[in-house]
Amino acid sequence: MLYSNMLKLLIILLVSSGLVSCDQSPQRPIGTTNSSISPLRPANDSITIKKGEVKSGQGLFQALKSISIENVWALKLINQLRDEVEFSKIKVGDKLEATFKNEELIKFSFSQNPVETHTVTYDKKQDKWEYSLETLETFWRPRTLEGELRPDSTLEGDLIAEGLDRSVVNEVVNVLLCKVNFRMNARKGDRYKVLLSEQIFEQRVVGTKVLFTSYEGKRAGKHEAFFYEDQEKGSTYTAHYTENGQALINSGLRYPLSRLHIRSSYGWRTHPVTGRRAMHRGVDLRGRVGEKVHAVAAGKVVISSYNKYAGNKVGIRHKDGSTSYYYHLSKRGVKVGQWVRSHQVIGRVGATGRVTGAHLHFGFKRPNGRWMDPLNKRMIATPKLSGEKFSKLTFQIAMIRGTLADLEMSKQSKYLVARINDLNILPEREDKLAKLTNFITEL
Ligand SMILES: [Zn+2]
Repeated sequence: MLYSNMLKLLIILLVSSGLVSCDQSPQRPIGTTNSSISPLRPANDSITIKKGEVKSGQGLFQALKSISIENVWALKLINQLRDEVEFSKIKVGDKLEATFKNEELIKFSFSQNPVETHTVTYDKKQDKWEYSLETLETFWRPRTLEGELRPDSTLEGDLIAEGLDRSVVNEVVNVLLCKVNFRMNARKGDRYKVLLSEQIFEQRVVGTKVLFTSYEGKRAGKHEAFFYEDQEKGSTYTAHYTENGQALINSGLRYPLSRLHIRSSYGWRTHPVTGRRAMHRGVDLRGRVGEKVHAVAAGKVVISSYNKYAGNKVGIRHKDGSTSYYYHLSKRGVKVGQWVRSHQVIGRVGATGRVTGAHLHFGFKRPNGRWMDPLNKRMIATPKLSGEKFSKLTFQIAMIRGTLADLEMSKQSKYLVARINDLNILPEREDKLAKLTNFITEL
């Protein structure tokens, strides 16, 4: 009995150590230690913890598999966590941990940064998974970067030289690319300024928000972009905007037709053919038979087929894991597996399937597989913020400008204080200068 348990342990150790990355501490089955010391008692439940991290080229399923979580369980976990974790943003180095009790998964943790750990724990009595989020204490610190292009420098190069993370540099450059054609119009002497908010944990930057970007040049003109953060977590409205609310999203989606006229919107409606109330998982766009249908973004064709409801349909999976759908086509111009460019013609408007007339039914699925109103996908219908969202943007811009002014002032006062200390101060003037120094520092 004891031998067979020890053998099992040994196998678990060998198998798991081969699966996890090399910097992990050896796997330790908890709970078995005591019982294996005492020869009188048989081993209790065997608990195994497997740790791993996402490696280059791995998707979520492969990463889960590397810590012995099979696809059936992976799907259950993703279902439990999909409102909390953006799995589409999975990246190399994300940490995973699974706890097994008698080879059954009882706990799973996932963290994309050192300060946030998402955990689901299985409650056997209630046959339910419990979600919890552990957050370590951090603080956000503003930081400005500004400079001037030299004869042989670029904005990208300058920011990388400042030690900014590649993803942050890309964000800044992509925002400005909406307004500035760097290849044509960047010149030496062009000025840039970036305001970041850096999340600090144990003196390390663990997260960065790009709050403000500006660029000014003789040929490029003057441009400013402000970060708008929507209240709703994961909102597609969270992005960079100009002061008057125009979205600055370089990789934005295009329209599937050259004109956009909505015949029937997303949501519950009385079906035009069956007369029953049904969920309409897309929008119907007016179009004439034969009119060109364009891919809204680059991607891979995952569906090109016919069925009696959707007629000729095409589905394209995009880089972020979302999928766009085009139904009732008269002609399909692409094959499954084919890669398409943004705005490439993929078929023609038609009236195939269960329809009352020619139109394009356009649908959109989030990376998590849920349908969404395609008109809520940013850049399809809302290139501009309006109403309440615009008011919030205005408020956030005021905050950003306030922070910029504060930082500017503290920079100038620090400079003055430094200069004052450098001066040879006469005794009778010392008091006055000390007061002045205090005053400036308090600014
Ligand atoms: Zn439709």
